[in-house]
Amino acid sequence: MKDCYLGVDIGSISTKGVIIDDDNNIITSAYIWTEGNPVEAVRKLLDILKLNLPKEYVVKGIGTTGSARKLIGLMLKANIVKNEITAHAIGTLTFYPNVRTILEIGGQDSKIILIKNGIITNYAMNTLCAAGTGSFLSSQAKRLGINAEEFGDYALKSKNPVKIAARCTVFAESDLVHKAQVGYAKEDIIAGLCKSVVLNYLNNVGKGKKITPPIIFQGGVSKNKGVVKYFKEILKEDIIVDENSHLMGAIGIAVLARRNKTGNTYSLEMKNVTFSTKAFECHRCPNTCELLKIYRNDKLVDSWGSKCGKY
Ligand code: SF4
Repeated sequence: MKDCYLGVDIGSISTKGVIIDDDNNIITSAYIWTEGNPVEAVRKLLDILKLNLPKEYVVKGIGTTGSARKLIGLMLKANIVKNEITAHAIGTLTFYPNVRTILEIGGQDSKIILIKNGIITNYAMNTLCAAGTGSFLSSQAKRLGINAEEFGDYALKSKNPVKIAARCTVFAESDLVHKAQVGYAKEDIIAGLCKSVVLNYLNNVGKGKKITPPIIFQGGVSKNKGVVKYFKEILKEDIIVDENSHLMGAIGIAVLARRNKTGNTYSLEMKNVTFSTKAFECHRCPNTCELLKIYRNDKLVDSWGSKCGKY
């Protein structure tokens, strides 16, 4: 039998899973929508990965990252749980040891990570505003009557990108409607949106950060050729997009699961595992904390939200 390691990256929009071997080769991977239910998304993800994992492999480590990492870490009994910054940096450094800047735009957030000599020196994350993220671009694509996959190709056709005020989703949407009504070409509006995503990113998460090459762009939006084009044009640098750029967080946490293996063997079978959460408010003191109790097969395994450490 051969050892392998599972990395799961659970975001609010998408859930990614990667299984690697001892040499960091990807054996299988999957990318699905979270649809507001991380537990069900991970069940589906495991079903896909199990189907595609050759029989000779045995899982010797599981890592989780992303916004629901703690919850899913408990569900899978992960041997390591780490934040997205660490996971993305480790994943990228595994394939690009000289990387200096990681630009990342995901479904609902974006981040920048600066690296020197393989060590994170600075980072920033924007989780507050959806303007310029994957979900924002998908909703604008829908509004313009095209699918998200065609978005980049449309943008590349434009010679005159329209200026779109994309600092905030509300302004961007009304600006977009206005530009479409006054008759601008679709490709110019789409190119304008891609350019505004880049400017918005550089003026927010990228503000005050020294962007040094080699620069790697990742996250779901890195698959949008229009956004890549404007990053290149505005930064006047080459932008590397790995074929697995959308999976880099999952790869990074799989690498960490391998590095921190304990000798245990893990099951990907979750059919007989029930996993539930119960919210309640504690009134023992004026803090009235909102707590979340986590149950695995009806057994309380953890609770979160207490300011005093009770529960
Ligand atoms: S969990 Fe602790 S801090 Fe929060 S309300 Fe209860 S007693 Fe107070």
